[in-house]
Amino acid sequence: MARPDRGRSASAAGRFARTILLAALAGGGAHLPLLHADDALSAPACPVRVPASGASAGELSARIYACFGSAAAGLRFRDETLDRLTVLARLATTKSSGERRALFQSLEPVWRSIDGDGDETSPWRALNRLHITQLQSRDGSLAARAAALGVDPAQVEPWLVAVLQAWRDALADQDLEPWDFYFHTGAMERALAGHLPLESLRPLNDRVYRELGADPSQLGIEYDIAPRAGKDPVAFTDFVTRQRQLPDGTWAPGHYRVSATYATGGAGNLAELLHETGHAIHIAAIRASPGLSDWPDSDIFTEALADLVALDVYDPAWQQRYLGDSVPAADALRAKYAVIVMDVAWALFELRMQADPERDPNAVWTGIMQQYLRIRPHPEWSWWAMRGQLVSGPGGMLNYALGAILIADLRARTRELFGQQPWGDTTWYARVAERLFRFGLERPSRRVIEDYLGRPVTPEALRAELRAR
Ligand SMILES: [Zn+2]
Repeated sequence: MARPDRGRSASAAGRFARTILLAALAGGGAHLPLLHADDALSAPACPVRVPASGASAGELSARIYACFGSAAAGLRFRDETLDRLTVLARLATTKSSGERRALFQSLEPVWRSIDGDGDETSPWRALNRLHITQLQSRDGSLAARAAALGVDPAQVEPWLVAVLQAWRDALADQDLEPWDFYFHTGAMERALAGHLPLESLRPLNDRVYRELGADPSQLGIEYDIAPRAGKDPVAFTDFVTRQRQLPDGTWAPGHYRVSATYATGGAGNLAELLHETGHAIHIAAIRASPGLSDWPDSDIFTEALADLVALDVYDPAWQQRYLGDSVPAADALRAKYAVIVMDVAWALFELRMQADPERDPNAVWTGIMQQYLRIRPHPEWSWWAMRGQLVSGPGGMLNYALGAILIADLRARTRELFGQQPWGDTTWYARVAERLFRFGLERPSRRVIEDYLGRPVTPEALRAELRAR
């Protein structure tokens, strides 16, 4: 079974854009129809008019999503037609603030596709009310997802606020316009681009893992990363054949495939490729009995494992070793966490709108942006309304937020156990595999995590890292 990825690519805008794309493509899960060209033509008038009498959450979600998809694919910017990903990527590289503002405002049709006129007739507000009913009648997916990681659901909102507050505390004394935020956090990607041409990605990826004792070629990992017409645009990794235990107790290796599409280099794409290989070295190390030799029971945990090595890209010492150059730590941390902090902000936005669906979403979003990210208020725009996740399923943004907390905790513990700068230590993989990768479905994720950490997950590692700026 293919496992569409959540999109851990790295540059501020690149990651951000990719996250949106992946949310759009993967976020809704199996129930969400992907948008085909014909759907756009036959889609109901956009934005969706509400109340759509008797529509279920699933139907309304699919209709809004169709509008979102077609708006995002055909944005007008001067004499160009751009997609949303291109607009967001350009925000991080366009030098003129005035030009960035114009680019940002070209996203307005996307915002309208989700929030309509931003008033009581907003399609998203209607959907939010339906989602709340669904959550209440279904035992709350947040509780289930949090419990799988050993997190008390009541702690989730205070944790989100604590993470955002740590970001705020570390910010320079400067307010930013939303369109400048992406440029401001894109400094690392811009500075390192020259060291990371397209052809460097594979060799670097292989070297990084080889030097940790996880040589991709020896582990049976295959790569399909060149652009090709009709290829799945979402990066993913999966089993081709599974490893199996032989009668004498030894293991016959399996084969694993990384599928991605890179037309350019850059730190964002490198981090994504390292993330996919992170999935591959994880599943290659599973040593469970036949029916249980599979991905773990928590997707959030699975995604965190894939980033154990990949997030080293944001470490200036790592950059020096592998790229021969580095950016200041503050730029690296900004690049690493800008996207995560936005994800946390969206998760908090969703929680607050679920708690009180009568509030004006623009006011809720503006408040969060101003208080924690120092982004100037623009309550006249529904600029929160550009994530497919907000439409495709209630609480989806929380996966990213909880994921960020878990990744930081696991990475801090890994460095504590196996070295602050383990690069070049070829015993690293076997030792980590033994404690973290080997279990498959044989052991609940929560138990693996708590055994490894020696305690339940907390947001302290993430907060400490943000404060270190
Ligand atoms: Zn992944």
